[in-house]
Amino acid sequence: MMNLLKKLDALKNDGRPIIACFPLYPPLALFHSMGLAPVVVWGLRGHVSGTETADRHLPSYTCSVARHLTEFILSDARDFIDGIFMYNACDTLRNLPEILTGQLAAAGRDVPFFHMHLPMTPRDQTEASGYLKNEIRTLITNLSDRFGVKFSSEKFQNSVALYQRMRELVLAVQDQAAAGRLGFLDFAEVMQAGAFMPVEGHIRALEDLTARPGKHNAGASKLPMDNTIGVMISGILPPQPSVVNAMTAAGMTVAADDIASFYRSYAVMPEPEPDPAEYYGKFYDDHYPCPTLLYMGDRRWAAFMDRLRQSGARAVIFIGEKFCEYEYFEFPYLEKRLAEAGFPSLRIEISIDDDQHTGAHDSRIAAFSEMLRGR
Ligand code: SF4
Repeated sequence: MMNLLKKLDALKNDGRPIIACFPLYPPLALFHSMGLAPVVVWGLRGHVSGTETADRHLPSYTCSVARHLTEFILSDARDFIDGIFMYNACDTLRNLPEILTGQLAAAGRDVPFFHMHLPMTPRDQTEASGYLKNEIRTLITNLSDRFGVKFSSEKFQNSVALYQRMRELVLAVQDQAAAGRLGFLDFAEVMQAGAFMPVEGHIRALEDLTARPGKHNAGASKLPMDNTIGVMISGILPPQPSVVNAMTAAGMTVAADDIASFYRSYAVMPEPEPDPAEYYGKFYDDHYPCPTLLYMGDRRWAAFMDRLRQSGARAVIFIGEKFCEYEYFEFPYLEKRLAEAGFPSLRIEISIDDDQHTGAHDSRIAAFSEMLRGR
């Protein structure tokens, strides 16, 4: 926890109001252009030591993502946060606005909540672009009123260009990790730290990473690269280091990821344009498919397979986030289609209690690798 609080403190000292955002695909460049410091409070595993406060408000069958973010916002971080932004996603998140604002108010904090409704209807069935544009314009008005800032088209385009630069670096670093020139854990570390950095800092961290050998890289695999088995990993959250280490020990490398907080977040980003309503229309309509974006369901399998085939991976490991309704609706379908296409898959499940102990997965990963070698 302390590490993240230090980062929030550093952001606070930059003088920009901090806006905590969830779920994963908020309009970050818009917030940045309006002088705010957006932080995506997602995947806080390893940073939040317990969920005592969250568990007073959420049932125990809630995913770790929601429990950790609730704990984080209602705990010490509450004194750093100047606003909360959310767009609609799963049922788990649906009632969080009331819980968070109610509890923050009870603690004497008046933290404004900004909400945007993202239409979840397939775009080829229902025309929703006018609605979404209106949501973006309303969001800008609400931010301006609350924080006393004016929207500037020029600043917006500059911010989009910065996020574009970050995206290019993320994809380049991913490629380096897939080629074995960097450890996947080095990439994951910089990505997770980036959620609590200004975009400028995240860009510098990614640039530094491409210029130095990663600390997880040396000796990461005992096998030469041409003897390892490339595997694509998929899930809402990246796997814990112990899972990646188990893969490495079993002679597998991460040839590509289809992780929501990694590739799905950065795969597609429109070019800068002056009108944010137009920009975010494209941003959400053309987003890389993710099961949390219900309207993209029909495009999910094709995008997933493109990613898999382009990576040269021979198999898929699903990192299941326990109680994630969206992912668990999708897994059986993807597994069936993968089997039909000749790609073996393995599903492991990570629960909130598995933060430190993932040893149970090691033998399944080793057996999976052995099975792949025998094919
Ligand atoms: S999409 Fe899944 S992981 Fe994310 S908050 Fe909802 S249930 Fe949890």
